[in-house]
Amino acid sequence: MKIILLGPPGAGKGTQAKSISNRYSIPHISTGDIFRMNISQNTPLGIEAKEHMDKGHLVPDEVTINMVKDRLAQEDCMGGYLLDGFPRTVFQAESLQNFLTERNEKLDTSLLIEVPMEFILERMIGRRGCQSCGASYHIKFNPTKVEGKCDVCGSDIVQRKDDVEETVRERLDVYERQTQPLIDFYKERNLLSTVDGTEAINEVFESICTILGSKK
Ligand code: ADP
Ligand code: ADP
Ligand code: ZN
Repeated sequence: MKIILLGPPGAGKGTQAKSISNRYSIPHISTGDIFRMNISQNTPLGIEAKEHMDKGHLVPDEVTINMVKDRLAQEDCMGGYLLDGFPRTVFQAESLQNFLTERNEKLDTSLLIEVPMEFILERMIGRRGCQSCGASYHIKFNPTKVEGKCDVCGSDIVQRKDDVEETVRERLDVYERQTQPLIDFYKERNLLSTVDGTEAINEVFESICTILGSKK
């Protein structure tokens, strides 16, 4: 199965992606996570990406698309994958369509996690994550059992540098201008499914499974 997750930052894409990836045994490919890994290892890609990410802007299309194509060409993607945070521009979406066509493949669906803007700021500012294992939490909606420590591995949990209010506002603006048009892009191609992302985390997951179950 080849799936794309769409939705504003903070919609719950990363949270749902972990569960989908487990349930359907497909790799979870998060462009944000790949960039952050490169930043922590100080690679040339990381150095370039950081400049844009810290301001809440997108990493340039060319850099992002090449990185994703390399990733999708790897062995573990042969049986399908789940893209989280890519595509984010119409140009990226078109490149992905071309990449798939060249390989005689197609998407099963894009899945829009719909969450109104008024929910988003609180979700993003309260987001915390584990730097060691990548588990993600929310101070109010999905807290750790022991304050400040990851449930999975016990490491310290931290706030992302771009999850502070000013950068979040910029990212939401970028989403509305550059990423929101993808909803119509996939709708026109009959490749859009929508779930209500304001429900609790496990309920959103159930709705997603209902949709994906009918695609199998
Ligand atoms: P995205 O990957 O779309 O940016 P995340 O999955 O990181 O979003 O979720 C953003 C924040 O909101 C996290 O702190 C997460 O724990 C929390 N969250 C995710 N889904 C829900 C939900 N359905 N209800 C309440 N909080 C949620
Ligand atoms: P969120 O979970 O809040 O949606 P991500 O982790 O997906 O955030 O992305 C963090 C940042 O990484 C973005 O603000 C952007 O700078 C960069 N990024 C991630 N994916 C892409 C992409 N497909 N194109 C360009 N930049 C991207
Ligand atoms: Zn952890």
